[in-house]
Amino acid sequence: MGKNRLSERVNCFTESVIRDMTRVALRYGAINLAQGFPDFEAPMELKEAASKAVFDDYNQYTITWGLPELREAISEKVKKYNGIECDPESEITVTCGTTEAMMATMLAIINPGDEVVVFEPFYENYGPDAIVSGAKPRYVALKGEKFEFDEEELKNAISDRTKAIIVNTPHNPTGKVFKKHELKLIADLCEDYDVIAVTDEVYEHLIYDGKKHISIATIGNMAERTVTISGVSKTYSVTGWRIGYAIAPKDITLGIRRAHDFLTVGAPAPLQKASVTALQLPESYYRELVEIYDRKRRMLYEALKNSNFDCHLPEGAYYILADFGGKMEMDDLEFSLYLTREVGVAPVPGSAFYHTRELGRTKVRFTFSKKDETLEEATRRLRQFSL
Ligand code: GLN
Repeated sequence: MGKNRLSERVNCFTESVIRDMTRVALRYGAINLAQGFPDFEAPMELKEAASKAVFDDYNQYTITWGLPELREAISEKVKKYNGIECDPESEITVTCGTTEAMMATMLAIINPGDEVVVFEPFYENYGPDAIVSGAKPRYVALKGEKFEFDEEELKNAISDRTKAIIVNTPHNPTGKVFKKHELKLIADLCEDYDVIAVTDEVYEHLIYDGKKHISIATIGNMAERTVTISGVSKTYSVTGWRIGYAIAPKDITLGIRRAHDFLTVGAPAPLQKASVTALQLPESYYRELVEIYDRKRRMLYEALKNSNFDCHLPEGAYYILADFGGKMEMDDLEFSLYLTREVGVAPVPGSAFYHTRELGRTKVRFTFSKKDETLEEATRRLRQFSL
């Protein structure tokens, strides 16, 4: 027997189930309601800005931690929309998507064995993020119709060994929008136990029914101990641009920049330049985006309800986590393949979002970040099927 050619690290996780389902959907010619990305066009201004940036020769590396103009635009945007004050010189790092921002942050703050609190279900990337950085995850369940967490359970999960807590609001896959009192509770525990809040706010502009997004960095003194992560992918329908950012106090930013520098050197220069245009779009852009997504949310919800899925209208983001509740003699993986092959609509198996895989066995996640026509066709196909 030769040496194991793969590291124990990568042997601890598989490829992304979400991204695998995109390949499965392609194989069967199914509508891909698995991976969360729009199949509609990006805004024209952004396409023009991106091509102009290439022709204007923004084609070499930018400063590792981000084009100065983009960091300036980020600081203005987060001041206006999130209420976060930050110094673009020392507190912002531009990364290759929020995915890299999260990984660079974990590498910057975690020592192997440090505990990190994660709400379950969770976006599947956080699992490998924890493994690669050596973090020991402690899970806190989001339960019931409103995906609420139990205060005692959270308190029991946080201790002197906790280094960080990951807060994802609006939440993937449930659509939960964390409320002020929930964030305040998390903030108080962070202060009491000297814990860093790492927040994934990439769906910050996708919130429905007049609800408001709250950045935990704006609560009390949390800015001193929060890494706020977001990016342009979802808000501006450019998931392939891979432009994200992390906002953190100066000392933590130093660490994030070091990790980022050696992971990727920098995010794509012309797309950083074009992202300045994105962040400066007028307020009406965000209002219209929510209106468009609200309609899509209702379309998918109605279609799933008609097929007898047990699900709820999400408060934010662009997913519905639906329960097929043991009405089929299949687990989530078999059911996802069945829906893809036989009905022509591909979801993500629910277990991809749970550490305790069993908890996701009767669930699947669908995205509604698709053209109306795509959702209409998905609705038509789902009509042929009932639980
Ligand atoms: N965040 C999106 C999802 O959950 C896309 C993930 C990805 O593939 N980067 O589907």
